[in-house]
Amino acid sequence: MYWADKIAKEIISSKKFKPYWVDDMKTPSGFAHVGSLRGPIIHSLIFRALKDAGVEVKFTFVINDFDHADELPPEFKDELKNYMGFPLRKIPSPSKGYDSLGMLLADDFNKVMSELGVEAEILSSWDMYHQGKFDGVIKEALDAGEKIQDLYQKISGSRKKEAGWLPFQVICEECGRLGTTRVYDWDREKVSYKCEPSLVTWSEGCGNEGKISPFGGTGKLPWKVDWAAHWKVIGVTVEAAGKDHASAGGSYDIALTLCDEVFNWPKPFNFGYEFFLIGGRKMSSSKGLGLKAHDLINVLPAELGRFLFARSDYREQINFDPVGTMAIPDLFDEYDRCWLAYIEGTNENLARVFELSLIKGVPDEKPIFLPRFRDVANYLEQPNVDLVKKFEELKGSELTPVELKLLNQREKYAKIWIKKYAPQELKYEMLDELPRGLKLGDKEKEFLEKVVDLVEEKKDAEDLQQAIYNLTKEIKLDTKEAFTALYQVLIGKDHGPKAAWFLLSLPKKKVIQRLNEAVGVKS
Ligand SMILES: [Zn+2]
Repeated sequence: MYWADKIAKEIISSKKFKPYWVDDMKTPSGFAHVGSLRGPIIHSLIFRALKDAGVEVKFTFVINDFDHADELPPEFKDELKNYMGFPLRKIPSPSKGYDSLGMLLADDFNKVMSELGVEAEILSSWDMYHQGKFDGVIKEALDAGEKIQDLYQKISGSRKKEAGWLPFQVICEECGRLGTTRVYDWDREKVSYKCEPSLVTWSEGCGNEGKISPFGGTGKLPWKVDWAAHWKVIGVTVEAAGKDHASAGGSYDIALTLCDEVFNWPKPFNFGYEFFLIGGRKMSSSKGLGLKAHDLINVLPAELGRFLFARSDYREQINFDPVGTMAIPDLFDEYDRCWLAYIEGTNENLARVFELSLIKGVPDEKPIFLPRFRDVANYLEQPNVDLVKKFEELKGSELTPVELKLLNQREKYAKIWIKKYAPQELKYEMLDELPRGLKLGDKEKEFLEKVVDLVEEKKDAEDLQQAIYNLTKEIKLDTKEAFTALYQVLIGKDHGPKAAWFLLSLPKKKVIQRLNEAVGVKS
């Protein structure tokens, strides 16, 4: 049984987590990394598994846009440097069309989630606090200030108790910062706070002191307390956490304990899931991508993007390393394997992965032939190949409308892959100049010189290919050596696509100029 179905079964049979309410959350502190999608997709898979098991279930995703900025997106670091410590919803948006940085970043992430079929209703933490929905839990937390500190200490074992510490942060009425204020008194109506110049290293409070009601959005609970509190406020009964939070004694443990012992609310069904890694290499922006969440939907069809996460068990690390590797063609192959398992009913687990990777329901019409992604890419690299004809040849019959649509889609993404990700040795592009250190023998030069004449005169690829071949015989040059010389001069490799077709696909003037240059190279 697929892992999400197992979890759904466990949730239902325990009878402890009703009504079923799946939730996840994220702080919009920068343009999200692709790995940030693992949480929303894991939760979406569990949501669908519960639904498919026949129970009523809700699914929400909380954007923690009330959190303060303790770092800024690198894109806006200078522009927004004066806003460190401000709530994300009070930092102006550097791009037009948004009221705040928090809204801009949340929208960027929400769009990707929606494309990947994450069905969650989006909730804003800022809005919920301002609507007074957290007032009750704020009071409970402030009343239990001492106990919360004791629990922190007991669970994480590290934190020293601070006299007068209270679990609340106020937005300073003077400077607007949230991350710099310390609340030290609670008279059951108002909290007293100070905006501390040196509470944190990354920002400086203004020194203002004040007394204010903690309700209705004047401030918020610190995040571990907030995490637990929002389960109660929303009514969450299922929420997993990434491994970075889910270690023993970590923030997830603390939140779960606070939920139970401070808020008197049953702990949600919980588990930790593994990391998502991008190879051992740093992603290079010069190669066009830093692999943000929003990049993923530009380089993969949405169902493949979802599949990337759905394919792995939540207890396994995912290592995705697309730059200069075959990771993307491999992903398509694995997707096709699951698809075939679904069509042929051969492997229940793989078929289920396929089904759960689809954005909408399973299409009515099934293809019987899946054009392999790496073949599509390969044929695209060869000039003058008619993809439809080629794949009809491979299939042995006409492509159906569904298969044609799939081929078109794969053509689109194969072009992107070739341009951005394909290993260098698979790229056949004419070099801008002769490769350095090029060495050619007299026979090879003679060959290239005569190829110039052939390129001038032949217009048909078959003709040209035959003429080149005959030429090698005529001047008694080994065929392989001859073609190697030609590829070296044009693309800097020992091998390449079918020579005549490739030559005719390039601008004639450029080819002739290049061949003449090569003939003039000193041996
Ligand atoms: Zn202040």
